[in-house]
Amino acid sequence: MSASNEKIIALIDMDAFFASVEQRDNPALRGKPVLIAGTDAQKGVVTTCSYEARKMGCHSGMSVFEARQLCPDGYYVAGNHNKYVYASMRIIEICHSFTPVVEPFSVDEMFLDITGSIRYFGSKETIAEGIRQEIKKKLNLPSSVGVAPNKVLAKLASKFAKPDGFFIIDNDNKAEILEELEVDKLFGIGHRTKDKLNKMGVYTAGQLGRFPLEILRRKFGVIGDYLSAIGRGEYDSDVIALNEAQRPKSVSNETTLYNPTRNREYLRKVLLSLVNKVCYRLRKHEAKARTIGIVIRMDSFMTHSYHYTVDRDLFYDAEIYQEVLKLFDKVDFGLNSVRLVGVYTANLVYERDPLQLRIFPLYDERKLSIVKAVDSLKNKYGTAIINIGDSRTPNYEFRPESRPPLSFGMKSFIQVELETRPLKRKP
Ligand SMILES: [Mg+2]
Repeated sequence: MSASNEKIIALIDMDAFFASVEQRDNPALRGKPVLIAGTDAQKGVVTTCSYEARKMGCHSGMSVFEARQLCPDGYYVAGNHNKYVYASMRIIEICHSFTPVVEPFSVDEMFLDITGSIRYFGSKETIAEGIRQEIKKKLNLPSSVGVAPNKVLAKLASKFAKPDGFFIIDNDNKAEILEELEVDKLFGIGHRTKDKLNKMGVYTAGQLGRFPLEILRRKFGVIGDYLSAIGRGEYDSDVIALNEAQRPKSVSNETTLYNPTRNREYLRKVLLSLVNKVCYRLRKHEAKARTIGIVIRMDSFMTHSYHYTVDRDLFYDAEIYQEVLKLFDKVDFGLNSVRLVGVYTANLVYERDPLQLRIFPLYDERKLSIVKAVDSLKNKYGTAIINIGDSRTPNYEFRPESRPPLSFGMKSFIQVELETRPLKRKP
């Protein structure tokens, strides 16, 4: 049992994030070395390598030119930033269902303070695996989770967890792990610091932790204290949930259709049921949205994402649905059928935010009291009980992707998905 004042921090780190997203969305890339890189074959830099590409010696930060020497048959994909940001937003949402204290550390890494969640979920293991399974179920992406008493050890634990697993560092295994750990495996120690430490005879974290602090301070200045502490596996830093820690930056729902379809009437109904879900959750957070968006993925794996920002605060199902339909009606299916639809809201404004305090017009208040009445029914009887508008929930469910691989004439630099430019609202 750990001391009661001890924190429990988790780090969620997506495995080969960008490459995994591309492999998820394009079966032809699965099991293949995939490298996310700029479109410039000579000057581009590799940002992510799939595990298959790593086996061939490739790593992120390497130039495309170098990577091509090691991996001439790799699939060099231009990547799609919007898509990764969208996935990242969904991951943050999932994290928020385990704890309100979430600190996005990068696009694919989130620190969570789960100290207060253990009692509710039962154990560190249930939370770590729960988050991973949730990400797998909702986003179909692999992730690794490290759990430890502080951020530095959580980061280290996540490295041990890779790929696609979790790892827990606690007082029982901490000393043993640090004793043999090379110093540059610790967060914040790069190769220069490592060289300097090695010259001082310090090779492992254990040695670093025992090294006289005075000498570390003399050699490294202010970071001497930090080095000494992390050598012992001590690092006192809170997970800094931004002001809006309990406030999602976006709320979204999406669904994969059981049968891809071109039937717009049917899709409008699916969209309505998604709007109902999104609005219900928006109001639960006491949020209103300024940006409304939709995501439409074709059976050709092309994904369209449209959004626009309005100068009003939207929270009412019918209102948001109207905006969603405007966006949807502009989507050109081409020759494709639709296999996934999503609705998202972003740019959220919070009712209790003193900066945003404003007097809503009377009709807004009236609408709010109607939807709140509906929401209280949903709270009581479940969300399926009543929805605003015509939305008997269509029969859809998630189906794992099982399409035959697409064939490409050219292996290199295939743009797997084409993101259409967001529709700008006319001034
Ligand atoms: Mg990662």
